[in-house]
Amino acid sequence: MRRFTVYDSRTRETRVFAPLSPPRVGLYVCGLTPYAPAHVGHGRTMTFFDVVARALRRWGYRVFYVQNVTNLDDHLIARASEDGVDPLALADRHFQDFRRSMDTLGNRSVNHYPFATDYVPEILAQIRQLVEKGYAYVADDGSVYFSVAKFPEYGKLSGQKLEALKPGARLELDERKRAPEDFVIWKATTPGEPSWESPWGPGRPGWHIEDTAMIFRLLGERCDLHGAAVDLIFPHHEAEVALAEAASGVAPFANYWMHGGLLLMEEEKMSKSLGNVALLDDAIERVGPGPLRLYYLNAQYRSPLVFQAGKSLEEAREAYSRLTVVYDRISELLERDGPERPGAELPEALGDAAEQLVERLDTTLADDFNTREAIALLFGWTRRLAEELPRLEGYSGSALEELAQPYRWGEEVLGLFVRAPTGPTGAWAAIVPVALAARARARARGDYAEADRIRDELRAAGVELEDDSSGTRWRAAPPG
Ligand SMILES: [Zn+2]
Repeated sequence: MRRFTVYDSRTRETRVFAPLSPPRVGLYVCGLTPYAPAHVGHGRTMTFFDVVARALRRWGYRVFYVQNVTNLDDHLIARASEDGVDPLALADRHFQDFRRSMDTLGNRSVNHYPFATDYVPEILAQIRQLVEKGYAYVADDGSVYFSVAKFPEYGKLSGQKLEALKPGARLELDERKRAPEDFVIWKATTPGEPSWESPWGPGRPGWHIEDTAMIFRLLGERCDLHGAAVDLIFPHHEAEVALAEAASGVAPFANYWMHGGLLLMEEEKMSKSLGNVALLDDAIERVGPGPLRLYYLNAQYRSPLVFQAGKSLEEAREAYSRLTVVYDRISELLERDGPERPGAELPEALGDAAEQLVERLDTTLADDFNTREAIALLFGWTRRLAEELPRLEGYSGSALEELAQPYRWGEEVLGLFVRAPTGPTGAWAAIVPVALAARARARARGDYAEADRIRDELRAAGVELEDDSSGTRWRAAPPG
């Protein structure tokens, strides 16, 4: 396992990471409340934590990555009633879209996306425990609140002082609460809302407790790494710490807290033709997953990043094409001729440089996930290879593979350079060879009309064939 450091928001220092039970790492990231389509800001947070999971796996840790889905809350209920639909169905629909977007963007490292409403028994058990221990109380209407005064360490994660939250602070006054800073963990429901039976009457879970109940169930009373964007530190994560440590009696609840910077929308004159590129899907459609990932990762992850709808994406597209020019050529040659292609071997210095660069990329990322510096190193490699570009054709397959190593690292860890599959996938991959064999038999017996017919039908279905001396190759034809 590679040693790495992480800036821990809990201790406010950069620490060497040590898992609770190596090599396993429980990673939990606050996920989506799917009441509307995902935003470019979600893309930033999810892409960053995807890189964290990819890196840890590369370095030998066994990561179990959980990202919750808050599929019921006030926003969802309000939005659903406006649209006259069921809130749980609305959440489900937006979540499915989100999964597709994540897949396109290359964020596939999450092991489990638990839905809050699937954990009501665990949530109720934790609430019961908190009531029994005296940390929570039942209000007149059957709601249950966590009593912040009972947990003197409240504020330790965010550095917020409780005094600052006392009356006068921006907390809505609620007669059901004993103190304004108390927060709801079980909400008594009004008729028509989704609700569950509880010892205190029908209700639904509050927001903060869904995370702690899921973490206890899926990762244990303590987790290794808890992450989200920085806007969730207070009150959400502060509340999680209080709930978890009050319920379990062990601390710290999360061994390391990682908070990513926000994506700030630049208030620019949005022309109608630009459309609403604040939506993640629109941004993906506009420039593709590679440039968008480059945009997200080419910044210090804790710093705010300003998103200027048109400009940011265009710059990313342009930078991405500069970054990929050499790798594209290498991939082209390897795809065309295969890894055994004959040619010159690599000058030793260049081979050594590639190997050393991969090591440097790992050490750079192991320094609190410095994706920005890693990308700078990849740009440096591309600049160095620019003079090799005309000579690439002359190199052997293994020489090209050596040159490609740093880019392969970028593909594996940063998720860059993802290309659309060049051949039909899934069922196609099984069916096309059958059609090709039939065509080969037709040609062997001299029935060229039949062979052409098979080729034309495959073409109509989106598969292009290419015949040469070594046989027939096929690829998915570009759409349209
Ligand atoms: Zn959360």
